[in-house]
Amino acid sequence: PIGATVTPRPAIAALPQYAAGRPPQPADGLTPYKLSSNENPYGPVDAARQAYRSVDALGRYPDPTAQTLRTTLAEVFDVPAEDIVTGTGSLGALTQLISCFAGTGPDGTVDEVIYPWRSFEAYPIVVRTAGAQDVQVLVDSEGRHDLEAMLAAITDRTTVILLCTPNNPTGPALSHQEVSDFLARVPRDIVVVIDEAYIEFIRAEGAVDALALYRHHPNVAVLRTFSKAHALASLRVGYVISQQEIIGPMRAAAPPFSVSAAAEAAAVASLGHLDEIQITVQNLVYERQRVREALLEAGWDVPAAEGNFVWLPLGEHSTDFAHQAGVLALSVRAFDGEGVRVSIGETEANDRLIELCRSYSLRG
Ligand code: PMP
Repeated sequence: PIGATVTPRPAIAALPQYAAGRPPQPADGLTPYKLSSNENPYGPVDAARQAYRSVDALGRYPDPTAQTLRTTLAEVFDVPAEDIVTGTGSLGALTQLISCFAGTGPDGTVDEVIYPWRSFEAYPIVVRTAGAQDVQVLVDSEGRHDLEAMLAAITDRTTVILLCTPNNPTGPALSHQEVSDFLARVPRDIVVVIDEAYIEFIRAEGAVDALALYRHHPNVAVLRTFSKAHALASLRVGYVISQQEIIGPMRAAAPPFSVSAAAEAAAVASLGHLDEIQITVQNLVYERQRVREALLEAGWDVPAAEGNFVWLPLGEHSTDFAHQAGVLALSVRAFDGEGVRVSIGETEANDRLIELCRSYSLRG
């Protein structure tokens, strides 16, 4: 062979690794529970399973733009179907969006993408892979976005801002007032993505209604997924709702066939059973509130939790706590030096977590 080895772009070589939630380790006499990926433990509705299995023409390409799914979503949310682009999970949809609006220009200028931190682990990977520069703005001590600091971080090179509500992994949701005031101060040529992966679990009063906002703000993109409340994480279906200024370029750049026929069929069926989904979601919300209250009572400092997870700000004890949870056959997600995110699971799993927290002492 001629020459040296292939080398990726410097940004790719320096990417942080996405640490996917690990399965729990078995322990004697204990049912193992995976509480590390914010999945819905109750699984999808039967109709979605059946629809998935009924797709037969496996040798044929799916509908390139998932027309049936977009039409169904349009009916459910009362928005035009043209305002929706689907993707391979919301992560696929976000990757498409970022690649349209942030990167390195022909003159070498590097676009900037502002997002809260700590937030969803994939943000730095998606932004840096697109060739853009990420600008992380620390969340406050209660795990809330510091919107003033995010506004202050805007420069001439900012092209995208990501908001995550409720914020993964810290938990609080943004209010409608906060986001409206924020949008009024963001230059109109910056795309503002509102990542609502966990929207169905929000119970806070006055939480942001992003679908109402996008109609008045052509620079707003609402990001949603079937992975969480709909429990279809394995099928990888997500979507963006926005006006044509954002949807047009996304559609032009979209890899065709990004949603498989079986995944589309399952997602459409799931939308036909929202009342069933509402029951499992409400169950998880109830459990989340029960867990949070028990932990507050035990003296833990747990921020507002509006997703299907709670955040334990354990700092330097995070790795040790995750290890202790592992001994009890619970897999949780530790962010070394910061905290531990624990997904809400089955009642027994949540009980076990509460017991662990009650007996855990910060021995240092
Ligand atoms: N956004 C947030 C905030 C998330 O937590 C996740 C998944 N953990 C995603 C997006 C991506 O989900 P998916 O690609 O499965 O739709």
